Amino acid sequence: MSGAIEDIKIGLEVHTQLTSLKTKLFCSCPADYRGKEPNTLVCPVCLGLPGALPVLNERAVRYAIMAALALNCKISERMVFFRKNYYYPDLPKNFQISQYDRAGGVPLAIDGYLYIEDQGHSKRINISRVHLEEDPGRLVHIGPIDQSPYTLVDYNRSGIALLEIVTAPDMSSPREARLFLQKLRNILEHLGIFDGSLEGSMRCDANISLAGGMRVEVKNITSFKEVERALSFEIIRQRGLIEKGIAVKRETRHWDEIRRITVSLRTKEEEQDYRYFPEPDLVPVVISKDLIEEIRAEMPELPDERAKRFMRMYGLPKYDAEVLVSSKQLADFFEECVKLYNRPKEISNWMMSDLLRYLYENNLELSESKITPQMLIDMIRLIDEGVISGKIAKRILPEMIVYGRSPREIIEREGLIKITDETLLGELAERVFAENPKAVRDALMDEKAVHFLIGQLMRLTRGKADPNIANKIVREKLQKVKESFEEPKPN
Ligand code: ZN
Ligand code: MN
Repeated sequence: MSGAIEDIKIGLEVHTQLTSLKTKLFCSCPADYRGKEPNTLVCPVCLGLPGALPVLNERAVRYAIMAALALNCKISERMVFFRKNYYYPDLPKNFQISQYDRAGGVPLAIDGYLYIEDQGHSKRINISRVHLEEDPGRLVHIGPIDQSPYTLVDYNRSGIALLEIVTAPDMSSPREARLFLQKLRNILEHLGIFDGSLEGSMRCDANISLAGGMRVEVKNITSFKEVERALSFEIIRQRGLIEKGIAVKRETRHWDEIRRITVSLRTKEEEQDYRYFPEPDLVPVVISKDLIEEIRAEMPELPDERAKRFMRMYGLPKYDAEVLVSSKQLADFFEECVKLYNRPKEISNWMMSDLLRYLYENNLELSESKITPQMLIDMIRLIDEGVISGKIAKRILPEMIVYGRSPREIIEREGLIKITDETLLGELAERVFAENPKAVRDALMDEKAVHFLIGQLMRLTRGKADPNIANKIVREKLQKVKESFEEPKPN
């Protein structure tokens, strides 16, 4: 019954760091821990030393409310922090300060949703809750987790503010999971509270079940590039078991991104194993209607509004606007370009076709490439001024993306400036005609052969000939050939 096996339910539990914060969630240690000497950005609070007391970061609460509003959630009037107890080396207090939706717990927000768009279809993904919690420390393994001879721990990350976003099991393919994460990232980036290009800033656990079977939780998915791979692997694994008549066990598995497989970590702990109870060191936080309205009024432009503005302001078609606004980096890049050179449709065309294709094929993000708006604009200007052809532009673009070289530098070094010299092109056309007598004869009647001859001339100049002039010269020469045939022979 393959139809039943394909009944896939995926839910996500996403952790995103509030990367725009200067300090941690419950202490004043600096939050920019990346690339720092291990265990240097720590204090008694984030090391969990006895007697140290947490103090809530007010800006973190504002950011979290802003995120919850953007995710269409109901904001609680009062939120409470809970202790989630478990023993693990990355957690020096032996509990994580988190939030809970049962046993009197009230998370920051509940009942939200997002729409994902896939090939013209829109699908609603429900969000069960959004809450604030602290990040644990970072465990460092040598190679794969189950083969590492030892584990190192770095508490610089301990206490970083995290937003946990839990969805309903509303996604039915790994692709939808990726689209959800992309949309989420885009929204949080537009809010200015999150930078998804920072390593480990968005991590996710996914639960997945097939054909109404047991839910398996996959942990340690470190980016949305990985989510599709991890879930696809899990589907194949579970499908294999079901086909052999083996029941899928309820368990937690770890995504090993080096070997690209999931490995069993432990059978899933039950909620009660965490012994949730209210955090006695923090008071409940009252969230007034006034505060919510104040934050709502401060909210920056969200992607959907931005796409509409792109259509209105720049006269872009809906499709262009939606693609450009699908990531904040891309949309910002586009607007930078338009500021430098007011040719929105031309800029959009280059970005949507050649630039995005190259990034996609090489699995790169715009931020990982070296091209700047100034470079792209310089290239479009060179085309507009007739210095290079569109064909040459396509050829030099990868070098701009990979090495960040300016287009002028590349064309000067490679001698790629467009050939507009008619005498030179005339001489080269002579050569093409001499080398292709049959094509010349065919060209008198057949337009395809004409294009062949123009193509040969372009090839001879390695694409540098101005295509309009090449076209004109070949046609003029053909006209002469034709006339020489038609001339009445003198008796
Ligand atoms: Zn600290
Ligand atoms: Mn969590």
